[in-house]
Amino acid sequence: MSAAENFRAVLTEIENARKNRAVAKDEEIILVAVTKNHGVEVMREAIDAGAKNIGENRVQEAAEKFQTLNREVTRHLIGHLQTNKVRQAVKLFDLIQSVDSLHLAEALDKAAAQIGKIQDVLIQINLARETQKSGVAPEDLNSLISFVDSAKNLRLRGLMMIAPNFSDVEECRPLFAQMRKLFDELKTSRKAFDFLSMGMTHDYKIAVEEGANVVRLGTAIFGERSLMNGNHRQV
Ligand SMILES: *Cc1c(COP(=O)(O)O)cnc(C)c1O
Repeated sequence: MSAAENFRAVLTEIENARKNRAVAKDEEIILVAVTKNHGVEVMREAIDAGAKNIGENRVQEAAEKFQTLNREVTRHLIGHLQTNKVRQAVKLFDLIQSVDSLHLAEALDKAAAQIGKIQDVLIQINLARETQKSGVAPEDLNSLISFVDSAKNLRLRGLMMIAPNFSDVEECRPLFAQMRKLFDELKTSRKAFDFLSMGMTHDYKIAVEEGANVVRLGTAIFGERSLMNGNHRQV
């Protein structure tokens, strides 16, 4: 199947999953097409198929592709961000989903101030406390939120999580539900706190059922990523 056909099939799956939801049944669900490790032509193909949101993992790779993209699209950074890349990141991305430390948030606030931008961000939580994954530890979440709330050039738009790669994907379900609960609690006292980003190719249907309103899909749309360019990393 072509990427365009896969894209449409995924939209149908998302709609079906939404019907099984207990919470926020009418909420808009944003599909981020993850084009990491693919060329700019794949990015164009996705946009021409209807993708309004594109996700990239690495600043440098994204910068090269955006330069020749020639299309309007909302740009998401979903991979771990190093502080030496923040100046470039605030220029390139509409939403930075991977804010996971105070240090990074401070650097982003400064870099955004320098170019006169209010940078939209999500806080990434390492809910399952996996040592190899990025994301703020649950016990450090409140202080990070307080900082981002107070930062003049950052706007906290929501939360992001990468679920563990359980062999039985159903094990993700309680974690997704826990994230939705946390999201709803935080939302009551905030403006523009709209996005709960969770769900990838292997677990997005469950994520949507449990309340995700942003899903990040690569493999489901574009097939397996090749190992050829050496960029492939497990996340
Ligand atoms: C690569 C990546 C995705 C997409 O993964 P698939 O399994 O290919 O859908 C989603 N989120 C993040 C943070 C990623 O790095």
